[in-house]
Amino acid sequence: MAATIEPPLGGEQRSDLSEIERRALDIIRSRGEEGIYQHELWKSLGLDSREGSRLALRLLKKGLIIREPAVHNGRRTYKLFIAQQKREKARLSVSIGSAIEIPCFSCKNLERCHLGGFFDPTTCPILRNWLNAKIKMIKQAMSD
Ligand code: SF4
Repeated sequence: MAATIEPPLGGEQRSDLSEIERRALDIIRSRGEEGIYQHELWKSLGLDSREGSRLALRLLKKGLIIREPAVHNGRRTYKLFIAQQKREKARLSVSIGSAIEIPCFSCKNLERCHLGGFFDPTTCPILRNWLNAKIKMIKQAMSD
C-alpha cells in the first residue's frame, strides 16, 4: 500500500479542503503554466456555471489559485492557475525586464482592451511603438 504526503498549499493543508476543491486543484495543477479556462474546469467537475463560479471564488479567497481575465472564442472569461506557479512566472518576468515600463500598466483603456475589440493589443500603436523602441535598444546593445 502506498501513501503520499502532500505539502501545504498556500498555507493550507489538503485536509482543510473539500473533495470538490481537491479535485479542482488537481485539474488546475495538471494544466501547469497553460492554466485552464474557468468553464473547462466546471465541465470537468460536472458543475454548472454558478457552482463553478463559487468554487473558483473559494479557491481564490484561500490563496490557492490565481484568476486572470482571458478571451475564449470571442467571449470574456477567466483562466485559472495554481497560485505558486504564477508567482514563479512573475519572478521570471521581473528578472528579464522592468514590467512596469509596459504602457498597458498605465493605460486608461486597459479594462476595455482585448483581442478583437476596439482597443486591441495586436493593433495598438502605443504598444507597437514601445515594442519597436525596445527592439531597437536591444539590437543596439547587442551590436556594441
Ligand atoms: S494594448 Fe494599447 S490600448 Fe491596450 S492596454 Fe496596452 S496600451 Fe492600452
